[in-house]
Amino acid sequence: MEKTNYVFNWHVTSKCNYHCHFCYSEWEKMQEIWDDPQKVAALLKNLSESRLFEKGKTRLNIAGGEATINMKNLVPVIETAWSKGFVLSIITNGSRLENLIPFIDKFSMVGISVDSASDENNVKIGRCTGKGEVMTFSELCKKVEALRAANPGLIIKINSVVNAFNWNENLLGQLKSVGAQKYKILRQMPFNGDKGISNDQWRHFLELNRHPELNTVIEDNEDMTHSYLMIAPDGRFFQNGGTEYAYSSHSLWEKPADELLFEMDFDEEKFKSRYNLSDEKKNSNF
Ligand code: SF4
Repeated sequence: MEKTNYVFNWHVTSKCNYHCHFCYSEWEKMQEIWDDPQKVAALLKNLSESRLFEKGKTRLNIAGGEATINMKNLVPVIETAWSKGFVLSIITNGSRLENLIPFIDKFSMVGISVDSASDENNVKIGRCTGKGEVMTFSELCKKVEALRAANPGLIIKINSVVNAFNWNENLLGQLKSVGAQKYKILRQMPFNGDKGISNDQWRHFLELNRHPELNTVIEDNEDMTHSYLMIAPDGRFFQNGGTEYAYSSHSLWEKPADELLFEMDFDEEKFKSRYNLSDEKKNSNF
């Protein structure tokens, strides 16, 4: 079997300019190591020495929180990962996409969260600033156009989290207007007593938003368990299997990645089955 291209999802920060109700980013009290470029360098060195790393193939996906609101910290992550030979992608709410333009040549993919085309629904979801300001869909399209002009090979992926406010929406028109090459649909994970959505609501959204020409990845709650290589803002691996996150004993800037991976309940087979579905779908997640 062809070697899997692994993806490390580093949630560099918990801070965000939005406040979605279902946000997983709940690490407010954690020390964020991207404040310290030396720790960033040590973490990326350890990752690049892992048995899972392959230069030019292993992807570092930068997640949050919202990384683009702190470019002072984000730039060393981008530059160091690039120099180590990581393929780079980022997941963002899109509100500060313009900040990425000077570095966008280093990225293969930008994933943008779009849950709803309705400003009203976005406010209900919390996908807005504290003052209730939302980014309209036409503003997003203009920002994406500017990114594409700076890196024509860039893949634009849209992620939607199906939740209590958008399960009845058809977003296919929006996906077409923004020129999404990939689409990922995630089911809101039950979290902090919130039960998420019903099976019927989930199926309804999938029926409304499937399109044969769109490369779509669908992730129900079970698919998202034990199958991501996720790194918390403090540099520890974490897993989302139970009601609470489980963490590795040390941060990746302190100890070799393989030693810490061994501690985690990481399901390599589930990971491979997700990433080896087809060449088309490879590298399509997060
Ligand atoms: S935009 Fe993303 S990181 Fe920010 S609050 Fe919403 S889900 Fe969380």
